[in-house]
Amino acid sequence: MKNDIGFFEKFKFTEPDIDTMPLDYNSQYIKNYINTIFHLHHFFELYMKFTLEELGINFKNDNMPQIRKKIKINSNARFSSSIDDIEKLNNLRNNLVHNGKDFLRYESLDMLMGRKILPLLISIFSEDKRLNNNIRLSKFNQSSLNLNIFKEIAKETKNNRNYSPRKVAFLKEMARASYQNPLNSPWNKFYNYDKQALLKVKEIKGDHSYKIYICPVCDLESLVGSKEQDFEEGEYHITYISEMKCYCCSFELTSHISEPQKMGYNVPLYWDI
Ligand SMILES: [Zn+2]
Repeated sequence: MKNDIGFFEKFKFTEPDIDTMPLDYNSQYIKNYINTIFHLHHFFELYMKFTLEELGINFKNDNMPQIRKKIKINSNARFSSSIDDIEKLNNLRNNLVHNGKDFLRYESLDMLMGRKILPLLISIFSEDKRLNNNIRLSKFNQSSLNLNIFKEIAKETKNNRNYSPRKVAFLKEMARASYQNPLNSPWNKFYNYDKQALLKVKEIKGDHSYKIYICPVCDLESLVGSKEQDFEEGEYHITYISEMKCYCCSFELTSHISEPQKMGYNVPLYWDI
């Protein structure tokens, strides 16, 4: 567990009581959860400080209730109507640092991010011209699927009854891989990441042990699944693919997600071999 936490080891951390948590709340979930809460908290902390100083709010002279009141009445602060959501994020971060036992469940984290935090980030990055030059939300738009991933997650989590954790998991993985997509990097013109990936795929093309698809993130024919076989009494019975990975952008899918095509996305049936 300690190695999994990595950077956050320096903070006090107590493993949650596994008797009361579902089995799939593994160390990877906890690591991702901590990263999510800490990085977003840090972003809002810096952004609010920067904005409040511009609005003339004095941190040395004003106490917290006064600062809160000034934020609420100042419509120029883009987060003025979301101050309760940011405070929730702050509490979650403090619970991790000072106590280390409180975690949001998987679905609750999806809801907080999809309903509150992502819409606020979309609003900040699309309206605040000070950030436009440095950070581009367009990285998270999938032109081949005609998809704005952040808005799609916000739409999916809007209604409890229609919410599909699998669909949101697919979208989150799309967002992660989009951020890492080396084809968006200025270094691609020197290193030709696309050609390198296609060369690797060429080595296995024609080998019936693999299935190769066009990746929904980088649009290269570099999403590869390896066929596996179950056998009984020495005879092979079922051939299947349980996971696939893109040799270019690192996009990964497992069959637990089920078929994204059946969720309404214009992609092949990945597990149909
Ligand atoms: Zn890819």
